Amino acid sequence: MSKGLLIVISGASGTGKGTICKKLLADLPEVAYSISATTRTPRPGEVDGREYYFLSVDEFKSWISEGKFLEYAEVYGNFYGTPLNKIEERLNRGEDIILEIDVQGALNVKKKCPDGVYIFLLPPSLEELKNRIEGRGTETPESLSRRLKNAVSEIKIGLEYDYVVVNDTIDNAAAQIKAILTAERLKVARNADKFEFEKGF
Ligand code: ADP
Ligand code: 5GP
Repeated sequence: MSKGLLIVISGASGTGKGTICKKLLADLPEVAYSISATTRTPRPGEVDGREYYFLSVDEFKSWISEGKFLEYAEVYGNFYGTPLNKIEERLNRGEDIILEIDVQGALNVKKKCPDGVYIFLLPPSLEELKNRIEGRGTETPESLSRRLKNAVSEIKIGLEYDYVVVNDTIDNAAAQIKAILTAERLKVARNADKFEFEKGF
């Protein structure tokens, strides 16, 4: 059996990563979501252990010292981290895992896991990005302006990823990501076992 795909999705805040990941998870039963830990406060409707593990700063620091993270980073004044949670074991069982993480974290994971699939999600325009964050209604004026200021420099780091997808409509972006995953699963390097015809005629 082929190993599962480690799928990393990043993009500026408000691009629609969460929305697209929810759609992929609903459509693709073979894909699981890596639930990150964070020290930020939950947004209305967010549930501990579903969107994130919501930790205090002290708890987060204990997880760091106990080696529980594959990567962690400080983003907008809060800590975020990917729990190791036996990721390797899950990939070896053939499970695909999506990490929805920021660019710093993604570049750290890329060093450790070069055979992952690194996808950068772009908004159709900066204007639309602003509309989406405002429309989500989760940010204060300060945090909105901070996220927008960071967007341009974050987007430049997208050049280091393997794939770029513009989130114009949810359906288009999700379809393009599904196409990427199909192509990745068909790579020769991931399918060496299918070439075992050594017995011959
Ligand atoms: P992120 O996880 O990247 O911060 P979200 O998934 O929270 O972004 O999306 C930000 C806002 O934009 C949400 O209100 C979401 O409903 C909306 N949104 C996401 N994708 C689209 C899209 N393709 N078209 C219009 N609105 C979108
Ligand atoms: P939000 O607060 O909007 O949920 O997320 C803010 C940023 O943190 C997003 O760019 C998101 O991708 C990133 N993020 C979420 N989880 C992780 C994680 O585990 N590690 C890292 N490095 N970034 C994360």
